[in-house]
Amino acid sequence: MDRGSLEALQLKRLRDTVQKLERVPFYHAKFEKSGLKPEDIKSTADIRRLPFTTAADLRENYPDGLLAVSRDEVVRLHTSSGTTGKPKALFFSRRDVDTAAELLARAFCMTGVTRRDVFQNMMSYGLFTGGLMMHYGAEKVGCMVIPSGPGTSERQLMLMQDFGTTVVHVTPSYAFYFADFLEKKGIDPRRQLALRKAFVGAEPYTEETRRKIEAALGVDVYNSYGLTEMNGPGVAFECEGKCGLHVWEDNFVMEIINPATGEPVGDGQTGELVLTSINREAMPLLRYRTRDLSSIIPEPCACGRTHRRLHRITGRSDDMLIVRGVNVFPQQIERVLMSIPQIGRNYLILLEGLDDMTVKVELSPSAFDGQVERLEELQNQVAEKLRAELWVRPKVDLVASGSLPVTEGKAKRVIDKRSL
Ligand code: ADP
Ligand code: ZN
Repeated sequence: MDRGSLEALQLKRLRDTVQKLERVPFYHAKFEKSGLKPEDIKSTADIRRLPFTTAADLRENYPDGLLAVSRDEVVRLHTSSGTTGKPKALFFSRRDVDTAAELLARAFCMTGVTRRDVFQNMMSYGLFTGGLMMHYGAEKVGCMVIPSGPGTSERQLMLMQDFGTTVVHVTPSYAFYFADFLEKKGIDPRRQLALRKAFVGAEPYTEETRRKIEAALGVDVYNSYGLTEMNGPGVAFECEGKCGLHVWEDNFVMEIINPATGEPVGDGQTGELVLTSINREAMPLLRYRTRDLSSIIPEPCACGRTHRRLHRITGRSDDMLIVRGVNVFPQQIERVLMSIPQIGRNYLILLEGLDDMTVKVELSPSAFDGQVERLEELQNQVAEKLRAELWVRPKVDLVASGSLPVTEGKAKRVIDKRSL
């Protein structure tokens, strides 16, 4: 679809959504307060007249205060974990489930996946959208889907070998863990497995990490982005160019704002991603504050798709750590670590005492030759590189490969035990 038609469709869907949300007391009250009528939305730029929706709004309206249809029309419930208190509950109508699958099918095709592929979904099934939604998307393409879930690496490997898995869906942390597992078993994925592609998402990771996963597993890694509030995975996905994530703009209106002021940032600048779902029945959300940091790539993509792209998410606006007065993003630390060849794949950021930062990081399996002086030298080198990037010097603790904990779902990289 050309940009003009795409934007016209966006506007139509946005207006329909606003109209529909007049029936939801939460939004109705907000429209009343600002005197807004659905007819006032004359262009997509008028989206700025609409209220924001936050994670707190979802929690306060738990379980079904933001539902826009009757309960009878709901066929699916998903929740987003969060770390404390009540989860965020998201409802899907039959058409919503089908649309979500459709968007993922598009994403799969965009990376060259066809019905001849065997898709092993290593994400957990259940309330988390990453399992079920990807499953539906892959079935829609016609892949043979192996719903392995996160199970043990032995079992994953057996399924891959016996059924010729070509595509996997994993978190970056599990991809590394599995690569280490293969290395220990002496299995060369390039020669002994049929793997070709990995869809990697659910948590932020750097370009360096992508390259490391690609090298370790012998696959093409495509970045997959989504959040439960907007269907789950399939909001934005990379095409074969692997140069930013196309956002399905016929389903989502994206904005990038300054998280402190709520005002839009300039073209191409980094800020908080705000998404409005304009093709949802059961629970559309207006201007949802994702807290994810990114920027829009305004230039058209070489692949020819007209849906604009986002740069990879660099973290969440609430991820920022303040260490000794300096703003530090965990992604900066990851970028440095992953660029050092002797460094392995798992790391942990520990904040303790008054304001002490320790970066615990695994050595690559082959890096340690038993000479303690070399280890100290490397430790200093890593600390120095981190200081140059962060402007504060953390303590670096090199540990044996495979000794840091691996979680089944999303990795927990920061442990903050400061007594500030
Ligand atoms: P939770 O909020 O409990 O983690 P979700 O499963 O809804 O539950 O997670 C969505 C969030 O996961 C996103 O808002 C984003 O922070 C993160 N995320 C998902 N995919 C990616 C990705 N490809 N890159 C960076 N972060 C991602
Ligand atoms: Zn493209």
